[in-house]
Amino acid sequence: MISKIIRSQNISKVEELLNQSNKIVITTHVSPDGDAIGSSLGLYHYLSEQGNDVTVVVPNEFPAFLKWVDGAKDILIHEKYPEFAQKLFDEADLIFCLDFNIPKRTLGIAPLIENAKAKKVLIDHHPEPSDFCDVVISHPEVSSTSELIFRLICRLGDYETMTRNSAEALYMGMMTDTGAFTYNSNDAQIYYIIGELLKKGINKDQIYSKVYNSYSEDRYRMLGFTLFERMKIYKEYKTALVWLSIEDQRRFNAQKGDTEGFANIPLNIEEIIFAVFIREDNDLVKISFRSQGDFPANRFASECYNGGGHRNAAGGEFRGTLDEAISLFEKSLPTYAPLLKKK
Ligand code: 5GP
Ligand code: MN
Repeated sequence: MISKIIRSQNISKVEELLNQSNKIVITTHVSPDGDAIGSSLGLYHYLSEQGNDVTVVVPNEFPAFLKWVDGAKDILIHEKYPEFAQKLFDEADLIFCLDFNIPKRTLGIAPLIENAKAKKVLIDHHPEPSDFCDVVISHPEVSSTSELIFRLICRLGDYETMTRNSAEALYMGMMTDTGAFTYNSNDAQIYYIIGELLKKGINKDQIYSKVYNSYSEDRYRMLGFTLFERMKIYKEYKTALVWLSIEDQRRFNAQKGDTEGFANIPLNIEEIIFAVFIREDNDLVKISFRSQGDFPANRFASECYNGGGHRNAAGGEFRGTLDEAISLFEKSLPTYAPLLKKK
């Protein structure tokens, strides 16, 4: 048995909203990751199966290694079709906001959410959600939004009718947000849920392979280059920095999602508890933070780069040059020495 994490009052409210709604939009954060796509498609298949008119709308393109998931081809990308997306939000009577806690994480979709007449339901696991939804199902203690969707479907009494494609998307999201169950994954219930998903006929080994064994040669060579030429270790702070310029990424013909996972890799080095990946993008510098144990990567992200996220996985943005972003990091790091030296 799994415990009832989502409040009964919220389950009733979602049930009521579903009964009143015909047109549903599911949306998620910019640069959608495995959990964003997995939770969205898991819910999409469930709601479609129930006869709803439902569309998943994401802010921008998502990586190729997530495109195999059933339903991924039907996802509408706001950046490519802004008018169509606008129409869907205007006409929706229910919007599910998944895997983000503030509208600005959805870039161009943010005003569509804020101006929509539809009722809104937030389902997320990032701390401190802002107040923009009618129903807020926010559980930072749960390791993925996909797990929350599984829990929601069960609580709505529909585990029995859950289909394999829904289960497959949810498993993918749970897997990717825990690094294939290597972090943030000590809750025994996760494994009970996996058991329930396996009963739906998913092939977990195949899902792992589709996500993690499908990189291009270019991506792997870029990773080798990054670790060899673009990594600095700050031993006294148990910290590692990796970085890539636009030019570096061009050299390896980098595609969307190719640098996914780069931030985690330096944590494999003994003693390293904080890993930072600074990547130059077209009009900004994107920063990813990963940590092990108690070090609050999200605090570093919010205090230094106006970002946020979870304790062990966070991100932020920097407006300026790559060198300036790196300087800011090096200047800030000593401030966190008491937390980094503890372990
Ligand atoms: P990633 O490094 O994989 O892009 O993101 C790691 C985590 O940090 C995710 O849970 C994501 O929601 C959060 N995150 C990434 N970038 C930002 C950002 O710019 N602002 C905020 N608030 N959170 C972010
Ligand atoms: Mn997530």
